[in-house]
Amino acid sequence: MHLLNRLFQDFIGLLYPNLCSGCSKPIYYGESMICTSCLFEIPYTDDHLNPDNRVAKQFWARIQFDGAMALLHFKKGNRVQSMLHQLKYKGKTELGQLLGKMIGDKLLLSTQFKEIDLIIPVPMHRKKLYQRGYNQSLCITEGIAQVLGCPVNDKALLKVKETATQTHKGRLSRNENMTRVFEVFQLAELQGKHILLVDDVITTGATIEACGIELWKAGIGNLSIAAVAFAD
Ligand SMILES: [Zn+2]
Repeated sequence: MHLLNRLFQDFIGLLYPNLCSGCSKPIYYGESMICTSCLFEIPYTDDHLNPDNRVAKQFWARIQFDGAMALLHFKKGNRVQSMLHQLKYKGKTELGQLLGKMIGDKLLLSTQFKEIDLIIPVPMHRKKLYQRGYNQSLCITEGIAQVLGCPVNDKALLKVKETATQTHKGRLSRNENMTRVFEVFQLAELQGKHILLVDDVITTGATIEACGIELWKAGIGNLSIAAVAFAD
């Protein structure tokens, strides 16, 4: 881009500042949704290089899987929480795609996430989907798919029962009542395949576990798990 054009873009940015989804400071030419400072300073996990990571341990003895990873550490008040809030409640679907691409880049460097056949987002109940207008996990899968060159399927696994919002519940009660919440509708699409199941944030792991159980019942060949963040 020519210098004048770039100056014009920065000038427009001063009038209508694009704010970083991590730190809320204005972002400048060449930056996209996450400022350079945040890109360097957000707490990456490096889970993709460590098979015994915290996310994997969360699922040991609960569900069979190949690889499990989260891109970032989630803590209350950190930049990651801000990003996930923008993605979930402020309509920043492109941020989901960007974070998905960042996950995809890590997966390419890992030996555990080879030969993924199909990427599936953790589904949202249709009522909630109608209210929000988009499934943030689907946005993330789209970014991952671009990097890995894998198809995405958001119709094979659906959420058929509404669950109460988990935000204000304690850790124990979150695990309650996750039976018959998810259901597989396109059995043939899944059989024998290595599925990458994707969520925005993993806390107790109850949602991923419930989805995974249904996927295994449907005859998948393998399961891997990826999320933007892990609340440890
Ligand atoms: Zn920032």
